[in-house]
Amino acid sequence: MKNLGLYIHIPFCVKKCNYCDFYSLGCVANGGIERYTDALCKHLKKEGELYKDREVDTVFLGGGTPSILSVELIKNVFSAINEGFRLTPSCEISLEANPGTVTEEKAKAYKQIGINRVSIGLQSVNDRELNVLGRIHTLDGFEESYRILREAGIENINIDIMYALPDQKTDDFIKTLDTVADFEPEHISAYCLKIEENTNFYKIRDTLILPDEEEQYKMYEALCNKLAAKGYEQYEISNFAKKGGRCVHNLKYWTSQDYLGFGPSAHSCIDGVRYSYSESIDEYVNAICEGNNPVKLHETEYELTEEEKMDEYVMLRLRLSDGVSPEEFENRFGVRFEKRYKKLNMYEKSGHVVKKHGNFAFTPKGFFVSNYILSDILESI
Ligand code: SF4
Repeated sequence: MKNLGLYIHIPFCVKKCNYCDFYSLGCVANGGIERYTDALCKHLKKEGELYKDREVDTVFLGGGTPSILSVELIKNVFSAINEGFRLTPSCEISLEANPGTVTEEKAKAYKQIGINRVSIGLQSVNDRELNVLGRIHTLDGFEESYRILREAGIENINIDIMYALPDQKTDDFIKTLDTVADFEPEHISAYCLKIEENTNFYKIRDTLILPDEEEQYKMYEALCNKLAAKGYEQYEISNFAKKGGRCVHNLKYWTSQDYLGFGPSAHSCIDGVRYSYSESIDEYVNAICEGNNPVKLHETEYELTEEEKMDEYVMLRLRLSDGVSPEEFENRFGVRFEKRYKKLNMYEKSGHVVKKHGNFAFTPKGFFVSNYILSDILESI
């Protein structure tokens, strides 16, 4: 039986950031967090009954801000995970943390309950930029959290950063890159700011001065070159790791492996079936408190056709610097790869795609415009 990944959504934050469109509640009072984690624990134990024959090799607590949970609540969640599921001895257990919510007591508890990877949202080392983003912390606050986690014995740390921020210049971003690399985390994720609907930034989008495409490309080039020089391998469009530091959980998403999601807005993909839970904490908690399962949405709508499965497989693999193997594709789907995705050859000639070890993969230049190239390839089929 194939191993499973678990994604557990903790939909609470101290305050909503100006760019964020994830499902999370900016502030919760009157025992709302306890009520949610109680329901989550019940759900984990009950759902685990269905997967007694499977082992779990990755657990990811994301959000929101999982580090907002008290020591007691995080311990409760882990007891429920262990009661419901069988974890492999080398299971990768990640938790997302935000500066300002990490204490020594919590960090020690993380280590004790087996959390072996922490992902910290820093976004920028410039306090003015942090303020514009609506983050609750400064660079000093981040340094304090990072120190606490290292001293507690967390050996695998990711730092999240962003670029193409309002009024940001390439030199500002290079300062963030250099400072972050000096911390020597095992992993760095770097995302280009996108102004999404339902965010504070969207409401004031006409007043924001954002870097143009040329400046964005300079930032992206600096990102790839600087991190390569510091010993980080780019293994996905936005993800960079020291040797052995790739995030095993996220690789499950990009290589179409099975995972189960828990919590409002969480997605699952298991034995070829996909579903999600609605973006409503009340619906999720009420269903569980009434002894029911939360409604699984889109279960049937997500049944993909064979062609959609092929295209999804290729699109996901192309996110990775290892790229897509025509041989594996043909063994899996019985369809000639180069006939279906013939336009890749054109992008190979233009230097956006390269063939390495028999696989087609994006070059850094190709990664930067990958959304455009992927839709062009799909339209040409
Ligand atoms: S801390 Fe993360 S999840 Fe919470 S509002 Fe900010 S970006 Fe969104």
